[in-house]
Amino acid sequence: MAPRTFSEVLHDGFELTYETDQVLYEDRSDHQHLVLFDNATFGKVLMLDGITQVTTADEFIYHEMMAHVPLFAHGAARHVAIVGGGDCGMAEEVLKHGCVETLTQIEIDESVVDFSKEHFSTFNSAVFEDDRFHLKIADGAKFFTQTDQRFDVVLVDSTDPVGPGEVLFSHDFYASVYNCLKPGGLLVTQNGVPFLQRQELVTSIARFSRIFAEASAYIAAIPTYVGGHMAFGWATDNPGLKSVPLDVLTKRFAAADIKTRYYTPAVHKASFALPRFIEEAVEEG
Ligand code: SAM
Repeated sequence: MAPRTFSEVLHDGFELTYETDQVLYEDRSDHQHLVLFDNATFGKVLMLDGITQVTTADEFIYHEMMAHVPLFAHGAARHVAIVGGGDCGMAEEVLKHGCVETLTQIEIDESVVDFSKEHFSTFNSAVFEDDRFHLKIADGAKFFTQTDQRFDVVLVDSTDPVGPGEVLFSHDFYASVYNCLKPGGLLVTQNGVPFLQRQELVTSIARFSRIFAEASAYIAAIPTYVGGHMAFGWATDNPGLKSVPLDVLTKRFAAADIKTRYYTPAVHKASFALPRFIEEAVEEG
């Protein structure tokens, strides 16, 4: 039988196509189309509404960089929130930090969590046995306008700004997260691949700047988010968080005793050195 193909058409005139001999799950939930399939190079691949979300081959880069950079920069985060993150790989990395007392994850689509529990246990099984993990099935944008909880770090592990994820890139959402941060707290967002999605980064940075004292970004290269570096948005009232010295990060990393495959304190420092075209996008925002 000929292999089935799944294509991501996120950018004009450019298409990314995966071949698969085995579709493991396919469904349309109330919120989005979900498909999980096996690919010879990337392992299990999850696509939502035709856009790659996570693969077993390269998830470690995205999850380690989005969890450990903010948490080691903060140094003492006790209460953390993840918005989205349905595959629960981000939660697994956050819960490796012993200082974290509660992790609240606000995911709109329960079906993503349910089948990720079954199919992505290689990287998320510890999450579901951890008493610190609290899953809320809700729209992240609504949650932050209603909750009394206050967080040290909020991570927005969202889909791209289309469909249910669009609201997670809005000024009002960023403002309501700001209101739920503890003093000196930090918001980190997935902000797309600037080579292909420059305007997304410019717009988020401009919105952060109207709310937070510091708006910036750091980067990592993740193979399945094609187009070069991915940008992570960084918004806080505490400018010191971006420039924690290497020796301090190294001590925190050693004390946490976390095994990583991508993150190191040196990579952490280097991730804030932006190529000029990305720096220009941040300056424009
Ligand atoms: N790492 C991925 C990426 O960059 O493509 C994102 C992974 S994660 C699977 C994205 C999650 O965000 C999905 O499970 C989706 O259901 C969730 N999501 C989208 N919009 C949301 C919203 N408004 N509130 C909460 N979760 C949302």
